[in-house]
Amino acid sequence: MAQPKIPRDLLPSDPRFGCGPSRIRREVVARLAEPGSVMGTSHRQPPVRHVVAAIREELGALYDLPAGYEVALGNGGATLFWDMATVCLVEKRAATGVYGEFTKKFSTALQGAPFLADPAVFQAPPGDLALPRAVGEVDAYAWAHNETSTGVVAPVSRPDDIAEDSLVIVDATSAAGGLAADVAQTDAYYFSAQKNLASDGGLWLAILSPAAIERSQQLTASPRWVPQMLDLSVAVTNSRADQTLNTPALATLVMVEAQCRWLLDNGGMAWAASRTASTSGILYRWAEDNPLTTPFVTDPGLRSPVVVTIDIDESVDAAHLCARARENGILDIEPYRKLGRNQIRVATFSSIEPSDVEALTACLDWLLEHRD
Ligand SMILES: *Cc1c(COP(=O)(O)O)cnc(C)c1O
Repeated sequence: MAQPKIPRDLLPSDPRFGCGPSRIRREVVARLAEPGSVMGTSHRQPPVRHVVAAIREELGALYDLPAGYEVALGNGGATLFWDMATVCLVEKRAATGVYGEFTKKFSTALQGAPFLADPAVFQAPPGDLALPRAVGEVDAYAWAHNETSTGVVAPVSRPDDIAEDSLVIVDATSAAGGLAADVAQTDAYYFSAQKNLASDGGLWLAILSPAAIERSQQLTASPRWVPQMLDLSVAVTNSRADQTLNTPALATLVMVEAQCRWLLDNGGMAWAASRTASTSGILYRWAEDNPLTTPFVTDPGLRSPVVVTIDIDESVDAAHLCARARENGILDIEPYRKLGRNQIRVATFSSIEPSDVEALTACLDWLLEHRD
């Protein structure tokens, strides 16, 4: 028997709520097909290089680039940057905060490097936060601004009492474009483009301090073997010329640029941060008020404004709820696969309209009332 459908007037205007690839604004996608678009033209010629230059300038403006800092980019996404940072930014040993799948992945990459001592790991269970603290002999400290697998937000500030030449490496993949940050507290604030930057996958971007660039130059000139794709100093040289080492996806670049400009036109990171705070607030309040739901992150101070995770009462099968939402066109509210909880996870990124999150709560209420 066909299941009853959610009444159309309750549905959101855009049904995409995934944490990445995430909702891309339709005007931005349309731009790719406009006459005069750079699609299908050389990435070595001025039109595409102007797009790269604009991205570098706009990210600099969004994050109030401190003196001497630079924006670099290349292919491979944040996952490639983990390997690049392992090879080019850590001299002997790193310390990591591990509190979910993404923070664990970088720590594991560091652990696997035969030329580094095993990282000093500061660990917390999913839903909680652990930040690395000063350790002797450690020359790099790493954690994530937003742990996308659990919806935990972390502070971005240089740990107390660390050696002056230590580098601070912050994974901002799902934070950049949605959460404000003082990048002067970091040496590498890096991200991909398919989350709050509402573009597509495949690209890494990083805001780098002079100390990070200098460390990468030292390590890539040392006897350590550095594959060209992982050579951050090569990436910096290419970025300074508004290019990438190898061919980038032009659509990804065009859409990042459009998103950065949209953020700047609306008021920059202060605007984005207040928008994501209020959008996520709609969901957290709904989850607290509904007897069948609870915010997964118990400490309100750790609840992410850009990735909302909500535990569902055991009497309701969350996987079935997500499947019913999907039958009604509402996409990607499934939890992070490896977390394995009876949960939903919703992106409240900058591109998500607050009214669509209101609509989502109405649809969830309807589905919870009309359970089979
Ligand atoms: C998505 C994500 C990544 C991985 O990004 P890719 O572009 O798939 O490499 C890394 N870290 C965090 C925090 C993420 O959310």
